[in-house]
Amino acid sequence: MSGETPPWDEGEEEQPSAAELEAAGQSAMFGDAPQPPVPAPTPAPVSEQPQMDAPPTDAAQPYRVLARKYRPQTFSELIGQDAMVTTLAHAIQRDRLAHAFLMTGVRGVGKTSTARLIAKALNCVGPDGQGGPTIDPCGVCEPCRAIAEGRHIDVIEMDAASHTGVDDVREIIEAVRYSAVSARYKIYIIDEVHMLSRNAFNALLKTLEEPPAHVKFLFATTEVDKLPVTVLSRTQRFDLRRIPTPMLKEHFAGICRKERVDAQDEALAMVAAAAEGSVRDGLSILDQAIAHADLETGSDEKALVTADRVRDMLGLADKSAQRRLFDALLNGDPQAMLADVDRQYSLGVEPLALLRGMMELTHRIAITQVSNSPSESVTEEERQAVEEWAGRLSAGQVHRLWQLLLKGHDEVRSAPDPLVAAQMALLRVLHAADMPDPGRLAKQLQDIAANGVASAPAATGEGGAAPVAQGPRMDWRELCDRVDQAGRLLVASTMRDWIRVIELAPGRLIFSLRPGLAEDPVSGIRDALYEVTGQRWQVERGEGEGAPSLREQEDAARQAEADRIRKSPLVEAALAAFPGAEFVEEDEAPRGDRNWSRRA
Ligand SMILES: [Zn+2]
Repeated sequence: MSGETPPWDEGEEEQPSAAELEAAGQSAMFGDAPQPPVPAPTPAPVSEQPQMDAPPTDAAQPYRVLARKYRPQTFSELIGQDAMVTTLAHAIQRDRLAHAFLMTGVRGVGKTSTARLIAKALNCVGPDGQGGPTIDPCGVCEPCRAIAEGRHIDVIEMDAASHTGVDDVREIIEAVRYSAVSARYKIYIIDEVHMLSRNAFNALLKTLEEPPAHVKFLFATTEVDKLPVTVLSRTQRFDLRRIPTPMLKEHFAGICRKERVDAQDEALAMVAAAAEGSVRDGLSILDQAIAHADLETGSDEKALVTADRVRDMLGLADKSAQRRLFDALLNGDPQAMLADVDRQYSLGVEPLALLRGMMELTHRIAITQVSNSPSESVTEEERQAVEEWAGRLSAGQVHRLWQLLLKGHDEVRSAPDPLVAAQMALLRVLHAADMPDPGRLAKQLQDIAANGVASAPAATGEGGAAPVAQGPRMDWRELCDRVDQAGRLLVASTMRDWIRVIELAPGRLIFSLRPGLAEDPVSGIRDALYEVTGQRWQVERGEGEGAPSLREQEDAARQAEADRIRKSPLVEAALAAFPGAEFVEEDEAPRGDRNWSRRA
């Protein structure tokens, strides 16, 4: 069983290929092959942390991607996972180690590194060969070195992503029966364990229930939800945290120092932010950035990783351009906004990334508003801008901004032409951006409505009077009211609803009729007018159209008012911001009543 290479151990390419540099680390989740043969294969005196302290620019040393070169060799080098390390240290001290461990967490937070560290911790024999399990593996004993180099015969790594079948697991189960060849524990590291088939899990389960004392399982997974409960319940679980951006930045700065490369602060911050909590992702970005910087600098100069370079490399929207765009959005400047979009697009920024940039800013503003503390921004300029916006915008506005951007983001993602979709989405945001928040909006709408009601009758009155009152002081509306008050309700309503006044003077009414009235109103009106004025009236139908009846005028005025409200920028913005919202007419009846009664 011993000397054979397990079927899953395919060995990795030793010289980093271009692709590896490109995707560094992403590919190499599992099973580093033995290190490329170091110039002196004899057990040369090894320093405490050979990999960390080795002069990096040794020309004889083949280039290794940073993610491998700086793979943590001790728990103290493992950043951001203090809670886990403490728990593990206690377990080792008290000799209460589980048979199986499960490392969960997003990619690149150090799951496999942790698994190897645990393997070392369990199998280290110390520099003198007498030591026991320890949280501080010595790094110099044969097991430590063999594990670090991925060549320890009793530490078997398997990538479940490519070995999902029950046969692969059977190999393990068979092997488990034999004791460790040279180490204290036989350790199986199974990466992406959630990829195992159901049958494979079932096969594994029996072994997990009663593993031989000399066997430890170390599982790693990015998707713990996919693991059967039966497996979860038999493992001690460690949730590895995303590494906070500032900690990543610090870490990368340290690596740059060791690599003897200068890096701008903002460049490191961008790399750290892009890494999204993953050391490995960050290191592969840094790798590329350093490679670019090397190409640009002369041989005796120190390479400098610049923010511009990193930005280009990541296809990141320039932060200052993002802020300019955001400003244009808030200031309602469509030309500037569209110009910014075009400029960024021509620089290769994806439309989706544009929207995401705007969303990030919005999020920062919201956080700044609630936490009332300086935001964790990349640069001082950004921090200032975010704080200024946080002070200027209301919480409601920020939330609506977010909703609009989110909607735009989804549209851009599914649109046949993302650029056009982005422009449209941002224009919509822009047009809604100067809107007050819903609370204030509601109040302003109320005010408009109140003013509208208050001012409309006055306007109607004047509007009604103007065309009619050609003679001195003869007000048709007033006449109608007086007829109404005299109790001649039917005649009054005919006068209001149907009569289009052509000429009105004391004792003389010439009118046309609004079409549709059945009977002839002349005699009724003549009598009523005589009754309320004590004067004989000449009442005749004349030639021409005449002024619209009072009823017609009111209808028109109400319509105009509704249009006016609907067309006010505020309401247009409201309708734009709440797509699907409807404009509801005010109830008409009370208003009519008020009109008449007010004149009582
Ligand atoms: Zn050791």
